Amino acid sequence: MIDLRSDTVTRPTPAMRAAMADAEVGDDVYAEDPTVRALEERVAELFGGRHVGLFTPTGVMANQIAVRMSVGPGEELVLDADAHIVAHEDGAAAWHGGVQTRTALSPRGLLEPADVARLLRRGDPYTVGTRAVAVEQTHNRGGGSVYPLEQLAAIRELTSAADVVLHCDGARIWHAHVATGTPLAAYGELFDTLSVCLSKGLGAPAGSVVLLPGDRMPEARRMRHRMGGAMRQAGILAAGGLYALDRHIDRLAEDHAHAALVADRLTEAGLDVAAPETNVVLVLLPEPRPEAAEVAARCRESGVLVSAFGPRLIRLVTHMDVDASACAKAAEVVAVSAV
Ligand SMILES: *Cc1c(COP(=O)(O)O)cnc(C)c1O
Repeated sequence: MIDLRSDTVTRPTPAMRAAMADAEVGDDVYAEDPTVRALEERVAELFGGRHVGLFTPTGVMANQIAVRMSVGPGEELVLDADAHIVAHEDGAAAWHGGVQTRTALSPRGLLEPADVARLLRRGDPYTVGTRAVAVEQTHNRGGGSVYPLEQLAAIRELTSAADVVLHCDGARIWHAHVATGTPLAAYGELFDTLSVCLSKGLGAPAGSVVLLPGDRMPEARRMRHRMGGAMRQAGILAAGGLYALDRHIDRLAEDHAHAALVADRLTEAGLDVAAPETNVVLVLLPEPRPEAAEVAARCRESGVLVSAFGPRLIRLVTHMDVDASACAKAAEVVAVSAV
């Protein structure tokens, strides 16, 4: 099977497994796991050293800790309508935190500064006030789209002026860094809080890190504990993350090239493809083409797995476990299955 449903399907390489097996560990609830601490420090350093890192089992938990640190029950979070926090976290912000969201439909998921300016509210006894704004870099439902740095800086200016927290769901921020050459520290400079995934394109089996201001860390550790995410000898997982940070960032350029290859082939086959900016390819299937679920089922029969991402939307995500020839084969199968 050629599996392009997501970049979460990667399996740890033998070398990564060896690094995990060799990890020095301790009880991380006592903050005594040296490998977890090394990972948290490493990620904080990569993003410029303004934050302190906290290891979490998942990206959802990393986002939820960041959101709840800034937005209380009945308070408001502004973000784009297709954000992962809105669409793919099972309503966690509302379920766990009673957080209200206020959203804008944005081109390829990227919030426009004018929309942020319009949505931000000071709040008074009759009006809910905005506590935080969240952006997603890269944007998943936007097809791996990348915020230009100037757009983020304009949003930062607005949130600073309004004294509102700016969070980045940076599950795939590594891809934006590789695609644009923007240093990770430049992103760290812009955001009050940031979540990053080790288990997507970086290829670790599990784990995320949430970056927060240092003075919030005791509270964040308690929140992680309440959510059931305080793990013990988690250094075994953290070692996979450290290994990935050393070896698997620069190679993301290959995944981007493979996504471009898939997009080119599908465009040549007459399909409507959103130009990929990183490792995600979105294919729109207008009438009279079959629906996405039908296309995905046909692809599966031919040995290719893709996601039905909407009634008429297919998503393919390139990653380290698929090479160029597998991507070319997958594109061929999708092209045939979509007619
Ligand atoms: C995958 C992802 C997350 C976190 O997901 P987990 O499966 O919980 O690790 C958060 N945001 C975005 C944009 C994602 O793609």
